[in-house]
Amino acid sequence: MGNIIAIDGPAGAGKGVISKRLANEIGFDNFDTGALYRCVSLQMLRTNINLNNIDEIVKIAKEMNVVFKKDGEDESVFLDGEDVTKAIREDNVNSIVSEVSTIKELREQILIIQRELVKGKNIVVEGRDIGTCVFPNAKIKIYLDASLEERANRRYKENLEKGINTTYEETLELLRHRDKIDMTREVAPLRKADDAVVVDTTELTIDEVVDRIKEIVG
Ligand code: C5P
Repeated sequence: MGNIIAIDGPAGAGKGVISKRLANEIGFDNFDTGALYRCVSLQMLRTNINLNNIDEIVKIAKEMNVVFKKDGEDESVFLDGEDVTKAIREDNVNSIVSEVSTIKELREQILIIQRELVKGKNIVVEGRDIGTCVFPNAKIKIYLDASLEERANRRYKENLEKGINTTYEETLELLRHRDKIDMTREVAPLRKADDAVVVDTTELTIDEVVDRIKEIVG
C-alpha cells in the first residue's frame, strides 16, 4: 500500500497548482481526478452523446484510456493516445462537466479507475470526494477553501492570461453555479471529510499553502 494525500475543495481554491507543487516537493505522484470527468465530457461532446444517455456515458468511461504524463513541472493528459491537456479545459467542457459528474453510474465507474490508478503509489490525489468517498482511509486529508470572490478573481486572471474573453462577473457566476451543483448533488457531494484539515487559501500565497500542508503531512 502506498501513501495517499487527499486534497478536496471547490473550483479555484488552488487544488491543481498546490497538489502539483506539493507532490513535486515531497516526491509523490500527483493525480488530478477532475481530468477523468473532463475526458468523459470531452468525448460526449465529440460524439454527440447527451446527458440523458447514461449507458453510453458509462461506456465512454469504461472504454477510455487516460494516461497522465509528467515532464518536469508540466503534466499532460492523454485520452486514447491524444494529448487533450488543453481541450479538456475549454469552456465547452467547463459548462457540462459538473452536470456530467452528478451521474451515479458514471461515478461508480470512475471510482474503479481511481482506485486502480493509485495502487502501490505514494500519491497526492485531488478532487471533490477523495477524502469522503474515494479514499476514506487516506491518512492525510486536506480541504482547500477560499472565498468565492477570491476564487473568481484567480480564474478571471487565468482566463485573461490564456486569452479567454470573459468578464469577472461571468466567471463568478459560473463558479457559483458549479459550486452549487458539486455541493448539492446526491452522490458524493463536495464536502469536508470529518477528519480533514481545512486550509483557507484566500490570503495565502502558493508557497505558504504548500508549506502549511507540508507541516500537516509532517
Ligand atoms: O477539478 P476540476 O475543475 O477539473 O473538476 C471538474 C469537475 O469534475 C468538478 O466541477 C466536479 O463536478 C467534477 N469532479 C468530481 N469529483 C472529483 C473531481 C472532479 O465530481 N473527484
